[in-house]
Amino acid sequence: MLERHTPGSGASTRNAGFLMRGMAENYKSALDNLGHDTARNIWHWSEENLLGLKAEGVDKLPSFRPTPSCLLAFEQDEADALVESARLLSEDGFGALLVESGTDSAWASGLPLLGLVNPADATINPADLISLLVAKLGSIVVGDQEVHAIEAADGQRPCIVRTATLEVHCGSVLVCTNADAGRLYPSLAGVVRPNRGQMLALRARGARLDYAYYANHGHEYIRQTPDGTIVAGGCRKQHAEDERTSDDRTSDPVQRDIEAFARGILDQPIEIVARWAGTMGFSPDGVPLVGPITPEQSVWFCGGFTGHGMSLAYRTAAGVVSAMLDGIDSDPLISAFALSRVWAARGDSAPSKTS
Ligand SMILES: Cc1cc2nc3c(=O)[nH]c(=O)nc-3n(C[C@H](O)[C@H](O)[C@H](O)COP(=O)(O)OP(=O)(O)OC[C@H]3O[C@@H](n4cnc5c(N)ncnc54)[C@H](O)[C@@H]3O)c2cc1C
Repeated sequence: MLERHTPGSGASTRNAGFLMRGMAENYKSALDNLGHDTARNIWHWSEENLLGLKAEGVDKLPSFRPTPSCLLAFEQDEADALVESARLLSEDGFGALLVESGTDSAWASGLPLLGLVNPADATINPADLISLLVAKLGSIVVGDQEVHAIEAADGQRPCIVRTATLEVHCGSVLVCTNADAGRLYPSLAGVVRPNRGQMLALRARGARLDYAYYANHGHEYIRQTPDGTIVAGGCRKQHAEDERTSDDRTSDPVQRDIEAFARGILDQPIEIVARWAGTMGFSPDGVPLVGPITPEQSVWFCGGFTGHGMSLAYRTAAGVVSAMLDGIDSDPLISAFALSRVWAARGDSAPSKTS
């Protein structure tokens, strides 16, 4: 594993730490937008994702908490969609609860009309999670190595991956460079698009949050960490154009909106203790992107998690690695997330050359 900076220095240590079933949007929207089979499978794969991470031992880490997530509706149309989502989830065999009241700060604010709870979800400090996984991989993870070229296998010789100081020969390569994919493979530039996600950490005396909350169709999120600190983020939608960037510095307008969201839902004074941002890789339809990116199929891509990598990437990577290394094609995830759907929609073929 070759990493440009330190392992996890991208989105994977800068996120909100929601190990959540499904996607930020509710199940009804996912069914409407993605179709029943894809949506139901994504919900299943996200459950498998958490089980896989637990099997790695993440539930033994100090910052792990079995915190249910709760999608909050502040408006009647979203409340109606949550009621319908709960019915559809139950029909498909997923446990979910509708809640109309609570005793924590979010409910005391008077803003929520209704919440849909995913009871088996969890939260974690993502830096803890990455440290554990990197420690398990040991010396195969090499930092400070920016890949600048990949020469694909041509049948006679293996792939060659080049950095400023290394030349690695291998049978196949999995490119997981998130929104930077287009720098190695220009044809991916219009497919995986950078979008900035911003967050802040705050203290609010006496505040208590019992769930990891998503609000406004998943556009805002807030949760409490084990030491009482509260982390909140989102507010990208109001600044969509400015946030389509790979600049990972915070911006005042978004930070002010996140503060206002946090103040509103906690309904008390807040003290900001940290601010940060990270770059997400968005796919055209919000569904991850996996598959070969060279004609001889020795170089694959895995990414485009569109803000759900904590919930889906472990399970996705497991499927992709099996397919790439062992030729296992029985995993339906590979076809549901196939990059070829985007090439087909654009009338393109897969790229064949590095820049
Ligand atoms: C603020 C924020 C909050 C989020 N909250 C959540 C959440 O609560 N739950 C959830 O499920 N998801 C969340 N996400 C999304 C989640 O963090 C991402 O989907 C996930 O981390 C993506 O993982 P990745 O490995 O694809 O990308 P990254 O973690 O960004 O990894 C890509 C890595 O590639 C490296 N790289 C790039 N180019 C090269 C090169 N040429 N050579 C070598 N290395 C290179 C980068 O340095 C980087 O470390 C959030 C994201 C953000 C930004």
